[in-house]
Amino acid sequence: MMPLGSAPAALILFGPPGSGKGTQAKLLRECLSVPHISTGDMLREHIHAGDALGKEVQGLMQAGQLVPDDLVNRLVAERIDRPDCARGFILDGYPRTLQQASVLEKMLQERKLDQVVVHLEVDYNVIIARLTGRRQCPVCGTLYSLTSRPPKAPGVCDLDGAKLVVRDDDRESVIRQRLEAYERQTRPLLDHFAASGHRFYQVDASHDSPQQILHKICRFLKNGA
Ligand code: ADP
Repeated sequence: MMPLGSAPAALILFGPPGSGKGTQAKLLRECLSVPHISTGDMLREHIHAGDALGKEVQGLMQAGQLVPDDLVNRLVAERIDRPDCARGFILDGYPRTLQQASVLEKMLQERKLDQVVVHLEVDYNVIIARLTGRRQCPVCGTLYSLTSRPPKAPGVCDLDGAKLVVRDDDRESVIRQRLEAYERQTRPLLDHFAASGHRFYQVDASHDSPQQILHKICRFLKNGA
């Protein structure tokens, strides 16, 4: 396993929708052997299960808006207290507001975990192209891209043959809402991270392949450069 640093740490993957946080999180999970915590996936699981929490967030998510801070903070707090997180974990899609960032800061201090932030920087036009071409397997969650990672047979998942779907919030009108929410509520966190004194790495994630980006992130985690 590749160490996240000398002490156990939370690796925060930060970037706009479509910047490849989920893809990098899955690749990093393999090389770091720590769990991948995606608040978006957790929320979608609740919607899928049809429980009270799922019903509460469904409308907001379909409209491309953020769900309430207290709700995601609680989900994350519960998740990181499971034993598999003791050696660190990867956060994908959290924190997304200044309030979430300060709650996370406290959670990590209490648990004696460091934080490392990786910012995936992506060109606006690249984001739009990626999100409109994105397809997902409703069964196993694998993501495909009509431009850069098409399925072997059109419209069906390589792994289980299920018919691929467009995520509800990947429709074009909703994409605009999600990018607005990012600009207004999430992007300001960059200044907060830069001022926080924690390790912070920016990587150009517009053009390189996922493997090349992974390589750069791993090199930073190892050498700090
Ligand atoms: P993306 O990063 O591509 O927008 P996600 O799966 O991370 O996709 O998030 C999908 C939706 O889930 C968001 O638009 C938002 O409604 C909700 N969500 C996920 N994480 C958070 C969070 N930390 N705070 C508030 N809402 C969240």
